[in-house]
Amino acid sequence: MSDFLKEKYQLDPGIVELVEASENSLASIFLGREKIKEENQYKVIHAMQKHNLSDQHFNWTTGYGYNDLGREKTEAIFAEIFDTEDALVRPNIVNGTHALSLCLSALLSPGDLMLSVTGAPYDTLHELIGLEGSYPHSLKNLNIKYEQMDLDIIIKDGNFINSARIRELNPKLVYLQRSTGYSFRPAIRISEMEKIIQHIKEQLPHVIIMVDNCYGEFIETTEPTSVGADIIAGSLIKNPGGGIALTGGYIAGKSNLVELVSQRLTAPGIGKECGLTFGTTRSVLQGVFLAPNVVSEAVKGAILASHIFNKLGYSVNPEPNEARSDIIQAICLNSPEKLMAFCKGVQEAAPVDSFVTPMPWDMPGYQDQVIMAAGAFIQGSSIELSADGPMRPPYHVYYQGGLTYAHSKLGIMKALQHLKEIPKNDVINQ
Ligand SMILES: *Cc1c(COP(=O)(O)O)cnc(C)c1O
Repeated sequence: MSDFLKEKYQLDPGIVELVEASENSLASIFLGREKIKEENQYKVIHAMQKHNLSDQHFNWTTGYGYNDLGREKTEAIFAEIFDTEDALVRPNIVNGTHALSLCLSALLSPGDLMLSVTGAPYDTLHELIGLEGSYPHSLKNLNIKYEQMDLDIIIKDGNFINSARIRELNPKLVYLQRSTGYSFRPAIRISEMEKIIQHIKEQLPHVIIMVDNCYGEFIETTEPTSVGADIIAGSLIKNPGGGIALTGGYIAGKSNLVELVSQRLTAPGIGKECGLTFGTTRSVLQGVFLAPNVVSEAVKGAILASHIFNKLGYSVNPEPNEARSDIIQAICLNSPEKLMAFCKGVQEAAPVDSFVTPMPWDMPGYQDQVIMAAGAFIQGSSIELSADGPMRPPYHVYYQGGLTYAHSKLGIMKALQHLKEIPKNDVINQ
């Protein structure tokens, strides 16, 4: 055990031993992650080279922002990375929810139907769709209909079922969420997504396939848009920002669809042609350059957490050996005290705000109280190490991010220490 951990963090030696034994047994899985990282790194560098990125693209314009060279270059590079015809990458897309909301409200018209085939979308989209609240601009209020199915309504034992029902619904847009979100299902792998998209397009040749790609970028060597998704959206303070982008969101897809979304972002007739980047192109491009490495570190941390908590008898999702398609590690902690202790430990491991104690709160857009541990350089950044979970049984904690693997490992050790300190709770022999 490192003297530093012993002296400065006063970690229980049993915990450090457990973590290091787990780490050693994961060597071959970690090697697999390195290979994915490498391929993604080449992909990003190649996109920058192909589009002749140069230091003039870190400058920006004023006023309308016509011919903002940095903006145009950044969008061309993102389109290349995501294997699409076009992209929008903007600092005024305020978060992932906004990026997704722009797509849905631009691509759906009154009378159309949106069909989610991965169950309920992420909590923050419920108001937009009209599942909760009553907002004048919700899709529901605009007479855009919504239906959802869980994935197992479509696929059973590897076979597609209920295809007639999908044809009968005849949606304008089929929506998939790649990541787990606040659920306990594995993220959808690109190979599975390919089969699902292919099947849906056989039923509905003209449907728009949209994917919420939040948390999924650079986990595999291809993205949903390489396997038939028409449009994807995500946040720059998650994976593709590499921990460096200060804000923003992206949308990538077919050029006619991206054009429609851009008209929603600005105004009909203006579209992509306007909009300042306020000097953000340097950090956005540097962020996406670093993202394959950062995502790899975060995933290794998630795998380590999965292995340890699985070994301790907790149910975990995904399991340590399972293929991944997002950075999230869900752990079922079964008690509110454990959820709070876990988050306290992760908070104490943070470089920023390590001294605060996370408490459950009513977060806008979420139905239950949520507890969150995060001490990030960028507010709300969840590619930086964080832990969170809704305060409802069975008290799942979602552990994600970590710009470096060692930081994620420290978070796990600190969390284990706090779990051990819950009265009458022996974490190692629970
Ligand atoms: C984070 C997330 C969102 C929403 O993104 P914000 O940036 O928090 O608005 C949507 N979907 C999924 C799967 C996410 O993980």
